[in-house]
Amino acid sequence: MGVEEPLGNNFITTSLDKVVNWSRASSLWPLTFGLACCAIEMMATGAARFDLDRFGVLFRASPRQADLLVVAGTVTKKMVPVIQTVYDQMPEPRYVIAMGACACSGGIFDTYSTVQGVDEFLPVDVYVPGCPPRPEGLLYAIMKLQEKIMDEKNSFGAVIGVGERTSEV
Ligand code: SF4
Repeated sequence: MGVEEPLGNNFITTSLDKVVNWSRASSLWPLTFGLACCAIEMMATGAARFDLDRFGVLFRASPRQADLLVVAGTVTKKMVPVIQTVYDQMPEPRYVIAMGACACSGGIFDTYSTVQGVDEFLPVDVYVPGCPPRPEGLLYAIMKLQEKIMDEKNSFGAVIGVGERTSEV
Protein backbone atom coordinates (compact mmCIF):
# COMPACT_ATOMS: atom_id res chain seq x y z
CA MET A 1 0.00 0.00 0.00
CA GLY A 2 1.15 3.51 -0.79
CA VAL A 3 0.76 4.72 2.81
CA GLU A 4 3.21 2.11 4.03
CA GLU A 5 5.91 2.89 1.52
CA PRO A 6 8.55 5.46 2.34
CA LEU A 7 7.87 8.68 0.45
CA GLY A 8 11.53 9.55 0.08
CA ASN A 9 11.98 12.82 -1.78
CA ASN A 10 8.67 12.59 -3.61
CA PHE A 11 6.83 15.33 -1.76
CA ILE A 12 7.29 18.96 -0.80
CA THR A 13 5.53 21.28 1.59
CA THR A 14 4.92 24.91 0.73
CA SER A 15 2.35 27.67 1.03
CA LEU A 16 -0.29 28.76 -1.46
CA ASP A 17 1.30 32.23 -1.57
CA LYS A 18 4.60 30.71 -2.69
CA VAL A 19 2.91 28.65 -5.41
CA VAL A 20 1.03 31.70 -6.71
CA ASN A 21 4.16 33.87 -6.59
CA TRP A 22 6.28 31.22 -8.30
CA SER A 23 3.77 30.75 -11.11
CA ARG A 24 3.49 34.52 -11.64
CA ALA A 25 7.23 35.11 -11.57
CA SER A 26 7.80 32.22 -13.99
CA SER A 27 5.28 33.38 -16.59
CA LEU A 28 5.63 37.14 -17.03
CA TRP A 29 4.00 38.19 -20.29
CA PRO A 30 5.06 41.67 -21.45
CA LEU A 31 3.01 43.74 -23.83
CA THR A 32 4.44 44.11 -27.33
CA PHE A 33 4.87 47.84 -27.00
CA GLY A 34 7.82 50.14 -27.64
CA LEU A 35 8.25 53.91 -27.76
CA ALA A 36 11.71 54.69 -29.15
CA CYS A 37 15.28 53.40 -29.60
CA CYS A 38 15.26 51.41 -26.34
CA ALA A 39 12.54 49.24 -27.88
CA ILE A 40 15.12 47.91 -30.36
CA GLU A 41 17.15 46.58 -27.42
CA MET A 42 13.96 45.12 -25.95
CA MET A 43 13.29 43.33 -29.24
CA ALA A 44 16.88 42.04 -29.26
CA THR A 45 16.31 40.71 -25.73
CA GLY A 46 13.35 38.70 -26.98
CA ALA A 47 15.18 37.34 -30.03
CA ALA A 48 17.28 34.18 -30.31
CA ARG A 49 20.62 35.46 -28.97
CA PHE A 50 19.27 36.45 -25.54
CA ASP A 51 16.08 34.35 -25.62
CA LEU A 52 13.59 35.69 -23.08
CA ASP A 53 11.46 32.58 -23.57
CA ARG A 54 13.74 30.60 -21.25
CA PHE A 55 12.48 32.80 -18.39
CA GLY A 56 8.86 32.10 -19.34
CA VAL A 57 8.65 35.63 -20.76
CA LEU A 58 6.49 35.70 -23.89
CA PHE A 59 5.45 38.94 -25.58
CA ARG A 60 1.70 39.34 -26.05
CA ALA A 61 -0.03 41.55 -28.61
CA SER A 62 -2.98 42.48 -26.37
CA PRO A 63 -2.80 44.32 -23.04
CA ARG A 64 -5.61 42.08 -21.82
CA GLN A 65 -3.21 39.11 -21.99
CA ALA A 66 -0.20 40.95 -20.57
CA ASP A 67 0.94 41.49 -16.98
CA LEU A 68 4.18 43.38 -17.65
CA LEU A 69 4.60 46.75 -19.34
CA VAL A 70 8.19 47.49 -20.39
CA VAL A 71 8.24 51.22 -21.02
CA ALA A 72 11.08 51.24 -23.56
CA GLY A 73 11.79 54.67 -24.93
CA THR A 74 11.12 58.38 -24.64
CA VAL A 75 7.75 59.16 -23.05
CA THR A 76 6.30 62.17 -24.80
CA LYS A 77 3.33 64.03 -23.32
CA LYS A 78 1.40 63.15 -26.45
CA MET A 79 1.81 59.43 -25.68
CA VAL A 80 0.74 59.61 -22.02
CA PRO A 81 -2.97 58.88 -22.68
CA VAL A 82 -2.00 55.92 -24.89
CA ILE A 83 0.34 54.42 -22.28
CA GLN A 84 -2.25 55.02 -19.57
CA THR A 85 -4.94 53.31 -21.66
CA VAL A 86 -2.93 50.16 -22.35
CA TYR A 87 -1.89 50.00 -18.68
CA ASP A 88 -5.51 50.30 -17.58
CA GLN A 89 -6.46 47.44 -19.93
CA MET A 90 -3.94 45.07 -18.34
CA PRO A 91 -5.37 42.75 -15.66
CA GLU A 92 -4.11 42.74 -12.08
CA PRO A 93 -1.52 41.95 -10.93
CA ARG A 94 0.48 44.05 -13.38
CA TYR A 95 4.04 45.27 -13.29
CA VAL A 96 6.05 48.06 -14.93
CA ILE A 97 9.72 48.21 -15.91
CA ALA A 98 11.10 51.62 -16.90
CA MET A 99 13.76 50.78 -19.50
CA GLY A 100 16.41 53.38 -20.31
CA ALA A 101 17.28 56.89 -19.20
CA CYS A 102 14.29 58.41 -21.03
CA ALA A 103 11.66 56.23 -19.34
CA CYS A 104 13.40 56.60 -15.95
CA SER A 105 13.95 60.36 -15.95
CA GLY A 106 13.40 61.93 -19.37
CA GLY A 107 17.04 61.28 -20.25
CA ILE A 108 18.65 64.00 -22.33
CA PHE A 109 15.24 65.37 -23.33
CA ASP A 110 14.61 68.05 -20.72
CA THR A 111 12.08 69.67 -23.03
CA TYR A 112 8.49 70.92 -23.05
CA SER A 113 7.27 67.79 -24.87
CA THR A 114 8.89 65.02 -22.80
CA VAL A 115 7.69 63.49 -19.54
CA GLN A 116 10.54 63.46 -17.01
CA GLY A 117 10.06 59.82 -16.06
CA VAL A 118 7.16 57.43 -16.56
CA ASP A 119 6.75 57.22 -12.78
CA GLU A 120 5.03 60.60 -12.98
CA PHE A 121 1.86 58.68 -13.90
CA LEU A 122 2.54 54.91 -13.54
CA PRO A 123 3.89 52.87 -10.59
CA VAL A 124 7.32 51.56 -11.63
CA ASP A 125 8.65 48.32 -10.14
CA VAL A 126 12.16 48.24 -11.63
CA TYR A 127 14.28 50.95 -13.30
CA VAL A 128 16.93 50.08 -15.90
CA PRO A 129 19.56 52.80 -16.43
CA GLY A 130 21.45 53.33 -19.68
CA CYS A 131 21.05 54.92 -23.09
CA PRO A 132 20.18 52.41 -24.29
CA PRO A 133 20.54 49.60 -21.75
CA ARG A 134 21.92 46.42 -23.27
CA PRO A 135 19.72 43.31 -23.35
CA GLU A 136 21.62 42.00 -20.30
CA GLY A 137 20.29 45.05 -18.42
CA LEU A 138 16.70 44.20 -19.24
CA LEU A 139 17.30 40.53 -18.38
CA TYR A 140 18.67 41.59 -15.00
CA ALA A 141 15.65 43.85 -14.44
CA ILE A 142 13.31 40.95 -15.17
CA MET A 143 15.20 38.77 -12.69
CA LYS A 144 14.90 41.53 -10.06
CA LEU A 145 11.17 41.76 -10.77
CA GLN A 146 10.89 37.99 -10.35
CA GLU A 147 12.60 38.30 -6.95
CA LYS A 148 10.17 41.06 -6.01
CA ILE A 149 7.17 38.94 -7.01
CA MET A 150 8.50 35.98 -5.01
CA ASP A 151 8.54 38.22 -1.91
CA GLU A 152 4.90 39.33 -2.25
CA LYS A 153 2.62 38.55 0.66
CA ASN A 154 -1.03 37.40 0.68
CA SER A 155 -0.99 36.66 -3.07
CA PHE A 156 -3.49 33.82 -2.72
CA GLY A 157 -5.68 35.71 -0.26
CA ALA A 158 -6.00 38.62 -2.68
CA VAL A 159 -7.13 36.20 -5.41
CA ILE A 160 -10.01 34.90 -3.30
CA GLY A 161 -10.94 38.37 -2.04
CA VAL A 162 -9.35 38.22 1.42
CA GLY A 163 -7.13 41.26 2.01
CA GLU A 164 -4.68 42.95 -0.30
CA ARG A 165 -1.50 41.69 -1.92
CA THR A 166 1.49 43.48 -0.42
CA SER A 167 5.12 43.86 -1.35
CA GLU A 168 7.85 44.86 1.08
CA VAL A 169 10.41 45.71 -1.61
S1 SF4 B 1 17.38 56.15 -23.27
FE1 SF4 B 1 18.60 56.56 -25.12
S2 SF4 B 1 18.26 54.72 -26.38
FE2 SF4 B 1 16.62 54.77 -24.85
S3 SF4 B 1 14.91 55.86 -25.82
FE3 SF4 B 1 16.12 57.37 -24.70
S4 SF4 B 1 17.55 58.21 -26.24
FE4 SF4 B 1 16.75 56.26 -27.04
